[in-house]
Amino acid sequence: MKFTQPKLPYSPDALAPVISQRTVEYHWGKHEKAYIDTLNDLIRDTGYEDMTLEQIITHSEGKLFNNASQAWNHIFYFFQFSPEPTPEPNGRLAEQIERQFGSLDELKRLMEDAGKGIFGSGWVWLSADHEGKLLITQAGNAANPMTDGLRPILTLDVWEHAYYLDYQNLRADYLHKIWDIIDWDIISIRYE
Ligand code: MN
Repeated sequence: MKFTQPKLPYSPDALAPVISQRTVEYHWGKHEKAYIDTLNDLIRDTGYEDMTLEQIITHSEGKLFNNASQAWNHIFYFFQFSPEPTPEPNGRLAEQIERQFGSLDELKRLMEDAGKGIFGSGWVWLSADHEGKLLITQAGNAANPMTDGLRPILTLDVWEHAYYLDYQNLRADYLHKIWDIIDWDIISIRYE
């Protein structure tokens, strides 16, 4: 099997009450596992077997793109969390947020608004362009800004499976609470 699911760096109950153990078990344990299993089935005995996951994402479409991108997106999502997160960005990212948005709170507000504005399933992305400028974008379904030449820094999953067990229809509450587990040290390192 080409791609394997990494082990999370925290226990399934560590993100509660922001994200419950049950949601981690379903979202990471079942949804993400299914994307990776399907990806492996789709690439078996094809030229894609020799590619990295990022190469597959930027050189595929349809079902293969959807499963490859979702496999990547969820690793990126779950590995930005910590039960004891660093609450503020540092270094160059802290300076860039201040320069572009004025404050971390304003960046959070804009990302929450972007998430509330997505109709149906998708992701909110914070990315950097080749000059280091930050961009907040909305993406439907599996879309990932790396296909537009951007470098992802942080992502918010707004598929219902990300929050429905814990927040039911209250997507806005989920988006507001999620900052309590975002580790800005990890996000700052991604930006460097
Ligand atoms: Mn998801």
